Parts: sequence; structure tokens; C-alpha cells
Amino acid sequence: MIRTEGLTKRYTIGESTVQVLKGIDFSVQAGDMVALTGSSGSGKSTLMNILGCLDRPDSGRYLIENEDVSTLGNDQLAGIRNRKIGFVFQTFNLLPRMSALENVALPLMYAGHDNPRPMAESALARVGLQERMHHQPNQLSGGQRQRVAIARAIVTNPAIILADEPTGNLDSKTSVEIMDLFLQLNAEGRTIIIVTHEPDIAAYCKRQIRMMDGQIVEAAGRV
Ligand code: ADP
Ligand code: MG
Repeated sequence: MIRTEGLTKRYTIGESTVQVLKGIDFSVQAGDMVALTGSSGSGKSTLMNILGCLDRPDSGRYLIENEDVSTLGNDQLAGIRNRKIGFVFQTFNLLPRMSALENVALPLMYAGHDNPRPMAESALARVGLQERMHHQPNQLSGGQRQRVAIARAIVTNPAIILADEPTGNLDSKTSVEIMDLFLQLNAEGRTIIIVTHEPDIAAYCKRQIRMMDGQIVEAAGRV
């Protein structure tokens, strides 16, 4: 489903350059559920942004379903992102003045859908929030906001879901509910990668990959 070969990325601020990714090779099979762990600053978000087609590597290759996307232009990259990937963020990233329904409908609007509402409603129903679809984010709890964000991520029916510390701002009971939801989405056949630094969250996944200082240092699997 996903394969990277020698991905590198560095950031330059003023005089100083930081090599954030130092050659990342890994692959994820369709239907897998992978935890990406590692301490703060190890490069997890940088890698996820590249996997999510939100950013590009400096060198190396990134293949989604055998298509090399590392050299695509912005528009093509946005197209891949819209069709194949749902991204979930730690801070939910919902638009504050829009209802849950409008937030979830956005990816469909970007894709030029004629009638986004029924699909947005069914995505919200899928995460158990049909009753709250006209609420704005500030009228929802943290767990409900993350459910809206997950509905937005799945509304285009992507094969891949990427989540960067999706439970980082949630209490442990709510975190369990959100992880149960990811398990269900995985059971439906979606490929999922979740960044976390919490071992009990990582334990939900079939496989764990650990990053340290811009490199993958360890991969452990249960299956
Ligand atoms: P993690 O998600 O594992 O905490 P990140 O990928 O966010 O790590 O960051 C890895 C390193 O890259 C850090 O040292 C961070 O300061 C640096 N970094 C991340 N994004 C940027 C950016 N846009 N500009 C400059 N430095 C960045
Ligand atoms: Mg991060």
C-alpha cells in the first residue's frame, strides 16, 4: 500500500540546518494498523506530513499503491491526498465557525461533489455523532471534536488513514473510545498509521515502528 525508500528531509532556520529525516525505509501492507512511536523531536510528524502528501521529501521515494508521489506537483499531490488519504490531527483542526456537518463536507466540496450532504451525514453517523451535526466545534467535547475530524477524514472513503497523536489532547477514557473507532475502521479494511508516544495506545496496533533521531530503529509486530 505504502512504501518509502531513503526519505530525507532537513530544515534550515537562519544559519543552522537540522537533518530531521535521515533515510527512512519502510512499507505498510494494505489493511495493516501501525503505531509510529518515538520521543518528541524524533521526526514523527515530519514523516507523517510526507506520508499524508502535506509535504515533500528532499530526497528518496514515496510510493502509494506503486505510484511514485514524491515528485508530483502541488495540484497532483492535493488530488492524491483527497482521494486516498484521510488525516487526523492532535488538535482536531476543525474550522470554528462551521458546523460539524459543514466541516465534514469540506473534502467533498474540494473534490467538486454535487451533493455532499448525504455523504457527510453518513460519515457523522459512522462516528456516532448524527445528533450533533449542527453543532459548532466549541459546542462539542474534545472526544466529539476528534470524532468529527475522523468523520472528515473518512468522508471521501480513503484507503489510508494517518493520525498524528490523535489522542494527545484527550483523557484516557475518551482515548480508548477513539482507538476503538480506529480499530473498527481498520476492520473495514482501511490501512492505518497512528503516531503516539503512549505505549497503551500503541498496543492497539498490529505493529509498532519506533523512530529515533530521524531514523527507524525498531519494528515489532504481533502478527
Ligand atoms: P516529532 O513529531 O517526533 O516530535 P517533528 O517531526 O515535529 O518531531 O520534528 C522533528 C525536528 O524537526 C524537531 O527538531 C523540530 O524542531 C524540527 N522541525 C519540525 N518542523 C519544522 C519546521 N517547519 N521548521 C523547522 N524545523 C522543524
Ligand atoms: Mg509530532
